[in-house]
Amino acid sequence: MPRSSSGFILAGLSIVSLACSTSTAAETSREASTNVVIDAGHGGYDRGGIPGQRIAEKTMTLDVAQRLKGLLSAKGYRVVMTRDSDVFVPLPTRVAIANSYRDAIFVCIHFNSAKRVGADGIETYFYSRDSLPLASAVHYFVAGGAPTPNRGVRRRGFYVLRKTKIPAVLVECGFLTNPGEGEYAQTASYRQKLAEEIAAGIRGRSSVASRLTSTRVATAETIPYQPYIDQTKVHNSSSSRSRKKSSKSKSSKKKKSSKSIDSEASATSKKREG
Ligand SMILES: [Zn+2]
Repeated sequence: MPRSSSGFILAGLSIVSLACSTSTAAETSREASTNVVIDAGHGGYDRGGIPGQRIAEKTMTLDVAQRLKGLLSAKGYRVVMTRDSDVFVPLPTRVAIANSYRDAIFVCIHFNSAKRVGADGIETYFYSRDSLPLASAVHYFVAGGAPTPNRGVRRRGFYVLRKTKIPAVLVECGFLTNPGEGEYAQTASYRQKLAEEIAAGIRGRSSVASRLTSTRVATAETIPYQPYIDQTKVHNSSSSRSRKKSSKSKSSKKKKSSKSIDSEASATSKKREG
């Protein structure tokens, strides 16, 4: 759903709740002291994307990550980058950095790729239940702000999501293999926009309406809970063309490697996790 329309609907419904105004100073200062670990996907010899891809994913992820860092720092967040230059950082190192901070959140920035050039859209991944509000909020803003299709929030056991002990999300900011999205991604203003939307999601994550809080009154500031697609038990992708890298059934049952579970996009991207 486009953000503008849902925002409009919510505004229309707005029973401006006084309960909401109780979450003020204390939460704001706590929020501002939150550590945000930003993980720019890939780097160094790991270019990201698929073989022969024209636009290097690692460059785009780093740029968005650095823009996000600037935006969050300006709001008082303490930002940690798993990489801040064109270097390769192994996935366990990225996870270790994330897990070394308390009360932190972990945000991985990626772009998608597929052999089918028509593949497009924004998708956001999470794994732990604690990560769902963050995933919902980030996806709500990024998918709402991008002029490309909404591929939904997805639960999946990617290494960096499974191994992190703090709320963690991985946002795929569009397909670099898609002509339209590739062009967008190459403009600084669009990457800035992506960073702004991710920042809005981070800032708004505590406003996600939860299924568990039935007493919550919807207000104009409430971010709708995003339904998600559970892909944690995917053995066979619904799309047969995406099965190229599917592993043998035993290992996929145990979610041994997130690389064994593939969607259309990831099937063609060997190192999409990093
Ligand atoms: Zn990637």
